[in-house]
Amino acid sequence: MLADRPRALDARWRERDLAVLWHPCTQMREHPDVLPLVPIERGEGAWLHGYDGRRYLDGVSSWWTNLHGHAEPRIAEAIARQARSLEQVILAGFSHAPAVELAERLLAIAPRQPGRAPLSRVFYADNGSAGVEVALKMAFHWFRNRGEEQRTRFIALENGYHGETLGALAVGDIPLYRRVYAPLLAEALFAPSPDAYMALPGESDEQCALRAADALADLFDQHPGEICALILEPRLQCAGGMRMHHPAYLRRARELCDANGVFLIADEIATGFGRTGTMFACEQAGIAPDLMCLSKGLTGGFLPLAAVLASETIYEGFLDDSRERAFLHSHSYTGNPLACAAALASLGIFGSDGVLERNRATAARMAPLAAQVGAGSPHVADVRQAGMVMAFELARDGQRDSPFDPSLRIGLRAYRAALERGVLLRPLGDILYWMPPYCIDEGQLQLLAETTAAAIAEATACA
Ligand SMILES: *Cc1c(COP(=O)(O)O)cnc(C)c1O
Repeated sequence: MLADRPRALDARWRERDLAVLWHPCTQMREHPDVLPLVPIERGEGAWLHGYDGRRYLDGVSSWWTNLHGHAEPRIAEAIARQARSLEQVILAGFSHAPAVELAERLLAIAPRQPGRAPLSRVFYADNGSAGVEVALKMAFHWFRNRGEEQRTRFIALENGYHGETLGALAVGDIPLYRRVYAPLLAEALFAPSPDAYMALPGESDEQCALRAADALADLFDQHPGEICALILEPRLQCAGGMRMHHPAYLRRARELCDANGVFLIADEIATGFGRTGTMFACEQAGIAPDLMCLSKGLTGGFLPLAAVLASETIYEGFLDDSRERAFLHSHSYTGNPLACAAALASLGIFGSDGVLERNRATAARMAPLAAQVGAGSPHVADVRQAGMVMAFELARDGQRDSPFDPSLRIGLRAYRAALERGVLLRPLGDILYWMPPYCIDEGQLQLLAETTAAAIAEATACA
């Protein structure tokens, strides 16, 4: 029977998968009974099409990577064209056009700050965590090269996230990912998060941000000459629950780094490429970092690639007669031509399709839909937005100080409820969020909002 074919295929793929795969960020024991496993056959625009014959709206851009929709033909074509001429070449001693062109394009759009030399160098890696490792090593090594060997520490923010490798985990502060590996991690210093959700009663977002900046200043004062860099996610702590802060924090952080002779590393791996309303989140504070990490949306969500943009000052700190003073970091696939070609095609779409402008309209449309979702449930404690990111904080009494008992797994319940309705929402704990592909249309936004409301109602019915 034709109608039965998809279901048979679906079951077949699930069975084969569970026989051989070990999935990321997953307690495998929960598959498939607690946690459904959804084999996907193809994607198109904001839709993912399953072998089960059903389609799922990708409300999280497939882990925040996709920008212009799945299987975007222009990016697919750019990759195919590149693959027919040069798929990969060693990037030490050799070069290729896509790597050069992409570096030129990235530097041209990087955040600028009056009175500060623009970012002028691009170092490639092949995923976000690796990009963070590069930035941390560069900052540390730069001071070594100057003979400042006591500068061995990083300041990071509470509730921040920078990836899963040991160096990146060391500057991350999400206990679920970090705690087990703590004995292996270099000790970082953590400054309070400027997270506006944590504002004191009566405090504005800006006052909350400035209070956190004061604590950051104190931390700098307590460790004179020991710090090489401050690393942060500008404007939006994503894995930390889509927590947002006032740009005033970033301005103060920039000033404090300058005053203390310390580098500022902006981790724009998730916030970059238009996600928070501007091309890069740093722009909203009018600041430029010394090092900027990019990945996720860099290739439009097609291929793994990271780019670390550095200032000329940092670059020059490695120019010397000694090889040991050089930055010897490398990855086999550094600057892969296919990934660079995908990134160039994605940047082209920003221009040809007026993506940032269209996003402003889409983000404006998201706001009233999200407000409705919030108003429709007694369990929504906060609805917040940064451009194309919307977050819903669920709480027992709809108040910040009344979190649900974690053992209820409200977020997981919401995930399953949304999936049954054909929408991929993947909550962070009990925080639901929208981070859709930029091509999402009015009908899809409506579906996203209706499903979110239904998922919240169903998930919280147990409480
Ligand atoms: C996802 C993420 C990373 C890690 O990137 P991977 O490609 O998953 O290694 C680092 N920083 C931030 C802010 C991220 O959101």
